[in-house]
Amino acid sequence: MNEQYIMALDQGTTSSRTIIYDKHSNIISVAQQEFTQYFPKEGWVEHDPMEIWSTQMATAQQALLQANLTFRNIAAIGITNQRETTVVWDKETGEPIYNAIVWQCRRTANYADALKPHEAMICEKTGLVADPYFSATKLAWILDNVPEARVRAEGGELLFGTIESWLIWKMTGGKAHVSDYSNACRTMLFNINTLQWDDELLALLDIPRCMLPEPVESSAHYGETIKELFGGPIPITGAAGDQQAALFGECCFEENEVKSTYGTGNFLLLNTGEKPVYSKNGLLTTIAWGLDGKVKYALEGSVFVCGAAIQWLRDELGFMETSKESEEMASAVESTDGVIIVPAFTGLGAPYWEPNARGAIYGVTRGTNRNHIARAVLEALAFQNEDLLAAMEADTGRKIDVLKVDGGAALNNLLMQIQADISDVKISRATSIESTSLGAAYLAGLSTGYYESLDDIINNKEIDRIFRPEINEDERTARIRQWKKAVNATIAYCSEDKTE
Ligand code: ADP
Repeated sequence: MNEQYIMALDQGTTSSRTIIYDKHSNIISVAQQEFTQYFPKEGWVEHDPMEIWSTQMATAQQALLQANLTFRNIAAIGITNQRETTVVWDKETGEPIYNAIVWQCRRTANYADALKPHEAMICEKTGLVADPYFSATKLAWILDNVPEARVRAEGGELLFGTIESWLIWKMTGGKAHVSDYSNACRTMLFNINTLQWDDELLALLDIPRCMLPEPVESSAHYGETIKELFGGPIPITGAAGDQQAALFGECCFEENEVKSTYGTGNFLLLNTGEKPVYSKNGLLTTIAWGLDGKVKYALEGSVFVCGAAIQWLRDELGFMETSKESEEMASAVESTDGVIIVPAFTGLGAPYWEPNARGAIYGVTRGTNRNHIARAVLEALAFQNEDLLAAMEADTGRKIDVLKVDGGAALNNLLMQIQADISDVKISRATSIESTSLGAAYLAGLSTGYYESLDDIINNKEIDRIFRPEINEDERTARIRQWKKAVNATIAYCSEDKTE
């Protein structure tokens, strides 16, 4: 019998990747291609859906070829994807009628403003806030601005999908038009309690229901790939948005389990079990996944600047050649010597929500050197995460004991130790920090019986390192107090600007 593997398609914001895993989560093959970013106007971001499709398929074929595998070796395909990005295409020809409007795109800010009076209803139904980030206003924009789009959509000629939906439709030759719950819930059109598209929201945004995909679980048989792609059919059996896939890949299957992904930005997700928890502290409520007839919910918080602050030290300040060196520099001093940096380069997100804030450095003396600044940046990343963890604890009323970490900057040991100290949590870093694609592979494998149970998956997980808190409570609270003082001063400074 042929050896069997799982293929994970990881369709990200800047590149399409394919990773093939064996049953023990070892990577057998990886292929990656970047694709074009379009910035047609200030604040606008687009992708070409056909380029997303072609790069994704090219990497899938390349990954197979590299490992000398055929479609017969692939038990199932799982997809994880950039979320919220919006595609509308012609049902007959499969041609997109406009570029994909990317999650970062702010063109629909005025649409979102118009929704503000309905924010309480939107939050209760979707767990989200009225913001151009989510798909709904992007879809409305396409219907309003592409000639004939609305009439054609109402006539049933056009289909809408987020990226997993688009890829599944293309891979099945137009047979399956579905969206998994974890992606559907990011559209701002999906009711996270009823698990249905919501008529009131559809009416509010004037979106024809007939163009929407069928909502499905994150682990289910969606269809099979058409023969032309890989020479024979492969079942497509898992899909989840990137952050939820990472939560799954980190094995945060139980209530109160939480993961933090330290990438360019930072995403924290906390599994809240089978009931949505609504935040009083500026976090989003989202569906983690649908599996075995049950839905798990999550609280989500994000920080705009995480690894990006390390890039700033490297590229703008020229402190080092590689991001990795930040650890060595920051370790060269025992403390920041009173320096605090608030890296609010693009405003402050949860729990402050201060879009006009900008970065600040406090406590600089004649003795301050690069190492102090580098250490202050690492501390800031940990403080920002702590703010989100504290918000989550306040919303659930439960203490978080363990934080599972992944993403590029999670490789920084000093940062992880500072995080453990400041948040008084045990940090658990897995050997594989590829949790996003692993999550997609697990979801796909569970559906076909490749993995028999969640335990089967948990047994796979190898821990690289645990970091434990090493400072006392007095020091911890004093340091957090200093950080809050700096954040408040930064917010006050930018609001003074506004009133001038
Ligand atoms: P993304 O998926 O958002 O592109 P990655 O998970 O690949 O991000 O992480 C890359 C980010 O992590 C970059 O911003 C980089 O500066 C930062 N980074 C990578 N290695 C380290 C390190 N050892 N210490 C601190 N930051 C790091």
